[in-house]
Amino acid sequence: MDLFFYLILFLMGITFGSFYTLAVYRIPQGQDITHTHSYCPKCDHKLGFWELIPVFSYAFLGGKCHHCHEKIRPRYFILELVSGLFFILVAACLKLSVETLTLMQIAEFAFFVLYFTFAVLMAVIDKENRKMNQSVLMYGVIISLMYIVYLCIVENANIYRYGIYIVAYLVVLLLDTITLKKKARNRYVYGILLTLLTMAVFTGEYIVFTTVIITLLSIAMYLLIYQISKVHHKNKQSDKQICNEITIGYLLGLVNIIFFVFVLFYQNYLS
Ligand SMILES: [Zn+2]
Repeated sequence: MDLFFYLILFLMGITFGSFYTLAVYRIPQGQDITHTHSYCPKCDHKLGFWELIPVFSYAFLGGKCHHCHEKIRPRYFILELVSGLFFILVAACLKLSVETLTLMQIAEFAFFVLYFTFAVLMAVIDKENRKMNQSVLMYGVIISLMYIVYLCIVENANIYRYGIYIVAYLVVLLLDTITLKKKARNRYVYGILLTLLTMAVFTGEYIVFTTVIITLLSIAMYLLIYQISKVHHKNKQSDKQICNEITIGYLLGLVNIIFFVFVLFYQNYLS
């Protein structure tokens, strides 16, 4: 019975993954993400039913558009598969089972899905465009507020603890509005701050703190390797180019999701 339940969760996961691949491509271009029919970006060929099945259609079509034979980037396939696997992994970490499923567990899982959606869209859009997308950030603020209301009403969480988050959100949003006209560079910083707040609401201060440390260490490692390759004259990129290559939002999102699932697993199975 649970096997069937987990199969459904996997199918749900790859369907969300399929939505993410579409959203990360369309959101930065300001295109509609719900209504317009899926199409091949090269030849505009509208995708038929069999071409829309996540993961499987990629395998059937051999990673190519069936119409113009343009290669479909494997990262779309990977994103779908990873989403499916994460859905199963989190359900297993929360010890979800059909027989003992409670409303609270369903709510918890639904909030994980909402947060996972935020983290994936924020991270992948940052990786591909080096930009924190404003619509995605606002989506993060909205789901955070929903989660805070849920925690305070259903789980009797400490209102004051979350009150601090709401104040922090207001301060960042206010500063962002005030400095909006000055520099585009600041927007990236505000985007990172909003992301950290959303992460803290959903995964907790401890996990966010660790996420920041690991991210900073990995950036330091990257820069160190760059400096070494520069000494050996193998790398001709300028320092500015290298700095522009570092996508902080992407790294934060990746580290946070992996570490969050690891902690869930540890709490439920190892401690
Ligand atoms: Zn095509």
